[in-house]
Amino acid sequence: MKIRVIGSGNIWTGYNSASYMIDDNILVDMPNGMCKYLFRMGINPREIENVLLTHFHGDHYFDIPFYFLLKSKADNKNVNIYCSKEGKRKSQKLLKLAFPNSVKRINDTINLNYVYDDCFKVNNYNVKKILVNHGRMKPAYGYIFEINNHKIGFTGDSALCYNVEYMASICKYLFCDCTYIKGTSKHMGIDNIQELSKNNPNCKFVVSHMEDETRDKLKEEKIENIIIPEDNYIIKI
Ligand SMILES: [Zn+2]
Ligand SMILES: [Zn+2]
Repeated sequence: MKIRVIGSGNIWTGYNSASYMIDDNILVDMPNGMCKYLFRMGINPREIENVLLTHFHGDHYFDIPFYFLLKSKADNKNVNIYCSKEGKRKSQKLLKLAFPNSVKRINDTINLNYVYDDCFKVNNYNVKKILVNHGRMKPAYGYIFEINNHKIGFTGDSALCYNVEYMASICKYLFCDCTYIKGTSKHMGIDNIQELSKNNPNCKFVVSHMEDETRDKLKEEKIENIIIPEDNYIIKI
């Protein structure tokens, strides 16, 4: 399994917004600017067939119209969107706003499939969708990928909550929200990640969605099982 951190920052930084690519054809989240992030990294989003969305804030799905338009011109027209039940309505509304005269042509051209299941298979991975706590944004999900008894988790945007603690207890790597220095009711902070890493020494925490001051502070703290990635950081598991 190859995981590329496409974005490690939050929207108010020079870093790309939190997002990941798995094995060159699965994306976790599609923030505004995602297609450009990928092109800059030498990756063609035409090849990507699977997009897992954690929740419907703009910094996690606003590049969907550009991705759909690109797929409608690509040889590989397969598009699987894994998300919560409002995903179809939300993404189609956005597509209509972005390209009002092309919605029908795009939808008629691509092989678009929305998957709302809590458990599903992508490539060789068994994936579980798991509820997290992102304040008033409901539902917000994390994902757990399983292969050869290894579990790799993605929290999406979340405060510290039972399911994030659960993910930390079973995962080898947890790609997690660490927006702030101090956690809030919507996002985790360094204090939360410190606690998680102390309680779960077998899990490696790859932090994301960071504000710049959080990144600087994390670098000073030098916590053993925390990885502070730059954009385009690659982990092979
Ligand atoms: Zn959010
Ligand atoms: Zn966000």
